[in-house]
Amino acid sequence: MTTKEGEYASAVRDGDDDLLLKAIKEAYDGVECGDGGPFGAVVALNNEIVVSCHNMVRKNTDPTAHAEITAIREACKKLGRTELGDCEMYASCEPCPMCFGAIYLSRIKRVVYGAKAEAAIAVGFDASVGDALRGTAYYRKGHLEVIRAGGNVAVEAEQVFERTKGMFRLKHFATGIMVTSNFLACNSSPSPPTLIWFAVIE
Ligand SMILES: [Zn+2]
Repeated sequence: MTTKEGEYASAVRDGDDDLLLKAIKEAYDGVECGDGGPFGAVVALNNEIVVSCHNMVRKNTDPTAHAEITAIREACKKLGRTELGDCEMYASCEPCPMCFGAIYLSRIKRVVYGAKAEAAIAVGFDASVGDALRGTAYYRKGHLEVIRAGGNVAVEAEQVFERTKGMFRLKHFATGIMVTSNFLACNSSPSPPTLIWFAVIE
């Protein structure tokens, strides 16, 4: 077992850092190609990558196409089954409540994440996610082991948001204005832009 500091020390396994770095790379790739927000997720089986995915919310026009959800869907398709009890997930950022629910239902046994939800919130992502995560304790019991990465890989994961912030916000504003205009044209009542923004990028 590799020696690391703090919480990560008792939980880290050989190969964790490499798989988490792959998820972090996905987060950058997703923003660069305009598919969605800066989030990546890998599903691994016996330390081998089954699928490596990123947020597809924008590309799929689907607010539920978070990296973790996309990875679960693709892994199930690839393995030809609906249960991933022998698999582990590596997520660039702490999963949101929706993704925790999906991870739990997929029976994935272990989740290792990089950035804390607060890092995403700091650049403008939905702050309610942080509050809602306090209600996900249930998912962290039983068969699901949840581990926050430490060391350099955690720093790398946190940096994703600052490094992609500029390019991401430009895309956000362009999309937000477009959607808002359509909404106003159809409904002739004001709509809070923040709600649309969350739906588009989260
Ligand atoms: Zn999510």
